[in-house]
Amino acid sequence: MTRIQHLINGQAVESAQYFETVNPATQEVLAEVARGGAAEVNAAVAAAKAAFPAWAARPATERAALMRKLGNLISQHVPEIATTETRDTGQVISQTGKQLVPRAADNFHYFAEMCVRTDGHTYPTPTHLNYTLFHPVGVCALISPWNVPFMTATWKVAPCLAFGNTAVLKMSELSPLTAARLGELALEAGIPAGVLNIVHGYGTETGEPLVAHPDVRAISFTGSTVTGNRIVKSAGLKKFSMELGGKSPFVVFADADLDRALDAAVFMIFSNNGERCTAGSRILVQRSIYAEFAAKFAARAARIQVGDPLDEKTIIGPMISPGHLAKVRHYIELGQKEGATLLTGGLGAPDLPTHLQAGNFVRPTVFADVDNRMTIAQDEIFGPVACLIAFEDEAEAIVIANDTQYGLSSYVWTENIGKAHRVAAAIEAGMCFVNSQNVRDLRQPFGGTKASGTGREGGTWSYEVFLEPKNVAVSL
Ligand code: NAD
Repeated sequence: MTRIQHLINGQAVESAQYFETVNPATQEVLAEVARGGAAEVNAAVAAAKAAFPAWAARPATERAALMRKLGNLISQHVPEIATTETRDTGQVISQTGKQLVPRAADNFHYFAEMCVRTDGHTYPTPTHLNYTLFHPVGVCALISPWNVPFMTATWKVAPCLAFGNTAVLKMSELSPLTAARLGELALEAGIPAGVLNIVHGYGTETGEPLVAHPDVRAISFTGSTVTGNRIVKSAGLKKFSMELGGKSPFVVFADADLDRALDAAVFMIFSNNGERCTAGSRILVQRSIYAEFAAKFAARAARIQVGDPLDEKTIIGPMISPGHLAKVRHYIELGQKEGATLLTGGLGAPDLPTHLQAGNFVRPTVFADVDNRMTIAQDEIFGPVACLIAFEDEAEAIVIANDTQYGLSSYVWTENIGKAHRVAAAIEAGMCFVNSQNVRDLRQPFGGTKASGTGREGGTWSYEVFLEPKNVAVSL
């Protein structure tokens, strides 16, 4: 049995206890993983603290060169890492292999370039010359969820290290394998011992002591809103980036390009198994085209291939765990009780080959006639369950779009340019895509408002988390 250890100060470190990580498509045990607690967290933070002064003092060009090496190593190992990620998470191989792991390499190349270009500001006055210095923050806690774990980890590790900080990374206990590989590749790239440390384990046993540690200066967290709230309370005064849950509106006006909107709507709720923070899970459709849209959307959903995530043709793989499958199924049951109309999917088992019979599979499910106040429209289901909601006009679309605790992403489909801009401005969300699915540019501010989080990451927005500005005022 493969054993995954912590990475502390450049060394593989054992734990007294281990937990198993399981392939969600088959329930096969993939590895035993070290189960860290306060002792391992303390050792990792101490290693990161000791490595910080020398790493922060390295010229940005040297750090950038190491980031590029790591990016290149990831690129050389895409098939291997993607297969491991798919086996560990159930995220389909067409996504991990073609999108998510290549983007992880891009993260290192992008922030390599950013860190050498970081400059300050000057604010001259008649009496003083003010200028800003950007210092690295110190030891950062980077905490990742189980959906797209490798890409998310690198999205944090790359800017953190490139800007001169050191890190303790904690992956989700449900998807630890590819981060362990990232640690090996980081050492192979020549990143010094202690700069990137990885401690595996459960949220309460490993995550809590990490966020509460007094030597941790910044926390970049991606995960649920419930955990985000808990971390803010236990961590005390630190820099935070909180990338939390979502229930994003996907608004389709009658004048939209219907075929393109349908393709994007299907993609935004069913790709990545629906386990996607920016999922367009509330699909708001103008009443005059609602019936046509619903019929076509349901027909497309019914054709989606559910099955082996290692098969290139599969669109929906298994849910991450039996517990998460039970949650998704609970919402499918609840939707019917709440009076929504089940157009396709539901609780029946998908048609699967024998080797996948024990997997955590669910059929892509579409509910029509959803009222936005129903629980299925308010709670983040985080699975392949779409809610179709009718609206009359622009004003009502905005009211419904904003009638949620969340504010992560949003999508607006219309051929009327003025309406597109008005609605994009009115929706309470960190991001709005007009006539588009979610397309990332690494310079964009990524993040949400309301219960979807605080802070933004990406491009210079990552300064907010990983750099500390200092103003120097010189009397003239
Ligand atoms: P989660 O909150 O259960 O866990 C996330 C991470 O936090 C895990 O590593 C977990 O072990 C750790 N953790 C749990 N309790 C902790 C504690 N008390 N202290 C410190 N760490 C703790 O989330 P999840 O189920 O792994 O992920 C799904 C959620 O993540 C969804 O809500 C999804 O929307 C969200 N998400 C958000 C984004 C975004 O960018 N906004 C991206 C991906 C996922």
